[in-house]
Amino acid sequence: MQVRYRYRLYPAPGQQRALARAFGCARVVYNDCLRLRDACHAAGEKISDTEVQRRVITLAKLTPEREWLAEVASVALVQACQDARRAYRNWFDSLKGRRKGPKIRHPKPRRKHGRQSIRLTRNGFALRGERLYVAKVGELKVEWSRSLPSAPSSVTVIPEPDGRYYASFVVERPAMPLPACDRDIGIDLGLNSLIVTSDGEVIPNRRFLRKADRRLRRAQRVLSRRQKGSANRASARHRLAVLHRKVRETRLDHAHKTALRLVRDNQAVYAEDLAVSGLMRTRLARSVSDAGWSQLMRLIEEKAAQYGRSFARIGRFEPTSQVCSACGVKDGPKPLHVREWACSACGTVHDRDVNAARNILAAGRADKANACGAGVRPRPVAVGAEAGTHRSTA
Ligand SMILES: [Zn+2]
Repeated sequence: MQVRYRYRLYPAPGQQRALARAFGCARVVYNDCLRLRDACHAAGEKISDTEVQRRVITLAKLTPEREWLAEVASVALVQACQDARRAYRNWFDSLKGRRKGPKIRHPKPRRKHGRQSIRLTRNGFALRGERLYVAKVGELKVEWSRSLPSAPSSVTVIPEPDGRYYASFVVERPAMPLPACDRDIGIDLGLNSLIVTSDGEVIPNRRFLRKADRRLRRAQRVLSRRQKGSANRASARHRLAVLHRKVRETRLDHAHKTALRLVRDNQAVYAEDLAVSGLMRTRLARSVSDAGWSQLMRLIEEKAAQYGRSFARIGRFEPTSQVCSACGVKDGPKPLHVREWACSACGTVHDRDVNAARNILAAGRADKANACGAGVRPRPVAVGAEAGTHRSTA
């Protein structure tokens, strides 16, 4: 299976400048691609992928406005071209109804102050001793926090807003199936918690995250009061970025531990597919943990594949919180403040979230009985998502 391994980089000042150039060029090429495809689309012309690449890279390098593209590794530019192609195609397929799932919006141009990165394939980077060689940048110092399981097929270099640099390698890692067990579990997004399981367990969001939320808001306020372009504003922005990173790391760590425990203790994990259920908007709107939920689902899916367990998303329109998990009677809608209710048919008293998780478990078992193993859809590693990169748990 393909996973990502992430390491911190320590580029020297000159290398930082070379990287900044590469990030800038990749961004320009990406945006030029979108613009060209938009223009062709508007004119009703078809344009091939090779022609796009030829015009925004090869021909552009010959013009005075874009001649600086020659200063950076062309692999990074080609990858930017492909990223734009994929973004455009996803949007186009979604528009034409060829793509399942929620509608995808037109790809936005990359901004100078947004997230930057360059992606390099085998001919753009190499591991030289302890260092990572990046074409036209040089040999970068890496903190090898753990060893790579295999030779990487590609690397993404990412500068974070707090000034740190990371290399994210895509590597092949053999699956390590755990001995089989006979337990399975349903999980649901809790109202005030990360998840609720069909066993009745409530896994809370870390307290730290709530506290950090207040600190983030305060740092955001401080930043907005600082004068534009001032040194004070720059340091306030840095403080905010550091705080954001700490929150992100804590959230990820908690999600890794939760996912690992669920996968290790159960042969099968079932969760509601919020994208399919149609309840996503209303459910997530009232939940502070939407980002946490999708991150957790990704980690469970990845760990299940790693350890030979199964994970399935239950996509159905049945309202899981309205059906009694004991007798199956649909008991009608429950306002949000109703945390506990008694079934009008069998009298069982339910906790709202636990009942939903039990229904998900039942639906998952039924799906499995119908079509053994269906519903488990392996997905390629997402480029943006830093999957499987955690030291403490992976
Ligand atoms: Zn009942």
